[in-house]
Amino acid sequence: MKLKAVLLLSLIFINAHSIAADKFGIVIHGGAGTIKKENLTDEKLEAINAVLTKATEAGYNALENGESSLDAIAIAINILEDSPIFNAGLGAVYTYDGLHALDASIMDGATRNAGAIAGVAHIKNPIDLAREVMDKSVHVMLSGAGAEEFAIQQGFDLVPADYFDTSHRYEAWKKARQRLAEAKTVEQQASVYLQDDFRYGTVGAVALDKNGNLAAGTSTGGMTAKRFDRIGDSPVIGAGTWADNTSCAVSATGHGEYFIRNHVAADICARVKYQNKSVETAAEEVIQDVLKPIGGTGGVIVIDAQGNFTMEFNTPGMYRAVKTTDKKLEVGIFAKN
Ligand code: ASP
Repeated sequence: MKLKAVLLLSLIFINAHSIAADKFGIVIHGGAGTIKKENLTDEKLEAINAVLTKATEAGYNALENGESSLDAIAIAINILEDSPIFNAGLGAVYTYDGLHALDASIMDGATRNAGAIAGVAHIKNPIDLAREVMDKSVHVMLSGAGAEEFAIQQGFDLVPADYFDTSHRYEAWKKARQRLAEAKTVEQQASVYLQDDFRYGTVGAVALDKNGNLAAGTSTGGMTAKRFDRIGDSPVIGAGTWADNTSCAVSATGHGEYFIRNHVAADICARVKYQNKSVETAAEEVIQDVLKPIGGTGGVIVIDAQGNFTMEFNTPGMYRAVKTTDKKLEVGIFAKN
């Protein structure tokens, strides 16, 4: 009798496990903005394509080998952070004072644990430090010098501030500083920051692993010429990043102030959870119906625990890529139509 019960239980377990292991996949983004074909050379397009492919394949392979969704997104984001093309890690934009201040966050959909860092200047891969905050500290968000002190305690090597320097971001900084100097009113200054060519290139990833666990992560240099230790949405849990196994995982990119005010990542998953909407519908509603009318530009990548995913944006382009058990690798740059 007892043996029968054990057999039955293990059968149920195997069954449940095989259902959960059915699907897995990863979706990544490299920022949304005024990304237009006429502004990109073939070589640049090829280079972007190559990094997006490499990051997606690396994340997908990790999932295939049974690694967790958290590991997979960190692997993918590290590759994007190490590429000078994107506004995260190497290639981060310059602050008003000509420095770099990086933000990142990560969330575990199984436990709803989260970690975030803001305004660090010497951490090569900010997503790794965000994960360390999640795993090894009693806090969710650390910032500035304190975050770097924590990093040192955890054995991170710091990089010199100029590690993040790139000439294309330096040129954008000079242009932004000039326009800010010319701006006479607060409104005119704000309109400089609204130009999305001064910030796009934030990176992020969401994934579903073989155990049915979701994870999301985002990493950015923020906005060119940001001032007064401005922090955007990327390290704000619920705004730029969200993951919950019972709804979905989201990483956002766009004009951070709008994403914070509208709690974008969590709002999408709340619509999935409480209104039974698909990730596609929920993301479309928030990006097109909530953000766009008030001038909030940007996009999101989303995946749910069934492996359904979407990549929604209201800008001319969003660097993005996906690979799941149901879908072979697909890389996208421009809007669908
Ligand atoms: N969301 C980022 C920020 O506001 C920038 C971006 O994603 O383009 O800092």
